[in-house]
Amino acid sequence: MGEWTSAGLSAILHGVTAAARPSVLVIGLDCLAPDLVFDRYREQLPTFAALMDQGTWGPLRSADPPITIPAWTCMMTGVPASRLGLYGFRHRRLGSYADKYLANANHVRAPRVWDVLSRAGRSVGVLGVPQTWPPAPVNGFLVSDAPAGGSRAFTFPAELENEIERTVGRYQFDVEGFRMADPDRVLAAIAAITRQRFELFRALGTSRGGDFLMMVDMGPDRLHHLFYRHCDPAHPRHRPAHRHSGVVLDYYRLLDAELALTLRLAPADCHVLVVSDHGAQPMLGGFCLNDWLVARGYLRLKCPVPAVRDFHESLVDWSRTRAWAWGGHCGRIFLNLRGREPEGTVAPDQAPTLLQEIAHELEAELDASGRPMGNRVLRMGGSELPDPAGDHPDLIVYLGEMRWRALGSIGHADLFQLENDTGADDASHHPMGVFIHCGPGRPQGHRADLRILDVAPTILSWFNQQPVDGCDGRVLDL
Ligand SMILES: [Zn+2]
Repeated sequence: MGEWTSAGLSAILHGVTAAARPSVLVIGLDCLAPDLVFDRYREQLPTFAALMDQGTWGPLRSADPPITIPAWTCMMTGVPASRLGLYGFRHRRLGSYADKYLANANHVRAPRVWDVLSRAGRSVGVLGVPQTWPPAPVNGFLVSDAPAGGSRAFTFPAELENEIERTVGRYQFDVEGFRMADPDRVLAAIAAITRQRFELFRALGTSRGGDFLMMVDMGPDRLHHLFYRHCDPAHPRHRPAHRHSGVVLDYYRLLDAELALTLRLAPADCHVLVVSDHGAQPMLGGFCLNDWLVARGYLRLKCPVPAVRDFHESLVDWSRTRAWAWGGHCGRIFLNLRGREPEGTVAPDQAPTLLQEIAHELEAELDASGRPMGNRVLRMGGSELPDPAGDHPDLIVYLGEMRWRALGSIGHADLFQLENDTGADDASHHPMGVFIHCGPGRPQGHRADLRILDVAPTILSWFNQQPVDGCDGRVLDL
């Protein structure tokens, strides 16, 4: 008998659904913030609190970089992002200025937990996990993230699409244009998608079952990017008594209620994990990384840019450029390397010195009030980014511990901007996500040593499977 049936959870579990007998149930909530779940809202989230009271929980150190892609794939393989060759959603093909692609399931180089289990003959069910499109065959079912490139196929087996339509209507992948739209409309859409995602997970978990069942909902991420200022008094744009003051708590309560219903899928000896790929923190604003490179003479434009505009390769005088950047939650800096880029200017033997110089200058950068920004620059092959594979940048930049977003657009009069250049944004990613485990084993309460790379080897150990090649995580003694 596991800890499941003790007082806290028995109040939640009204009876396990007969058809579902998972050994492992993973509820992934993108960007779910540990300080909100573990601290600020804990008393108002009875299901989360019960799982914590009966289990083991703590902040989960995310991937480097702590971005949705690669973080979920790091979690489901135990392999560092650099070894997977994944540095974000967008990538630039090395050796080209303009050849870009979006990382999808075809770019995942290591088997994920459900691949290993499928090969071992265990049944799996996967719903909405980032970087699962196009859907690959599994021993069970898989509903991918949003299709791209005009394809509509998003399930394995293909006919599952019809069952989904019959069960919950048209499947919603994400909130369209969530950074640009009317906040109240987006709020309603986020809640509707979350309800649909959980409802479908329960329905498929019941009708199809699986030894390993996992879902991810993007709702918390979308909510934080639009409304985080309202839940954090420390946010520079926080306004007390705003009509949106309660929306983040309301949404977390919705998650709590859906979680309670979904735990009915789990028998008493099931390992339940509630996890997030990263957390959230106030976004202070944006730092114009390409304008900074221009000001320092690393990036040369063909002619001055008269107004703010998106960065484009055609604007660059490549014959005099040594480095350029992409924006995002973190910055990515590329060297214009001779022998690699078409018009490379940096000799390979000069590259280490140049990278060192750029890194030192960025780490010494002061904010608008003259205080150190607290920037951190990660080198390829360093401890956070071992064995860099694939189309890697040359540096990854965390601006002010990611409280500043890297802006790739150019032509700004001021290096510091209050807004993101890709639309409304309240939140930056925080490198600590959520980990809650409840199930067989000894409940340990709070732990401070949990890493996203530990999740896959731990799950695999519950099925007597070895970690995959390249895994840097360890099996947690849960
Ligand atoms: Zn995410």
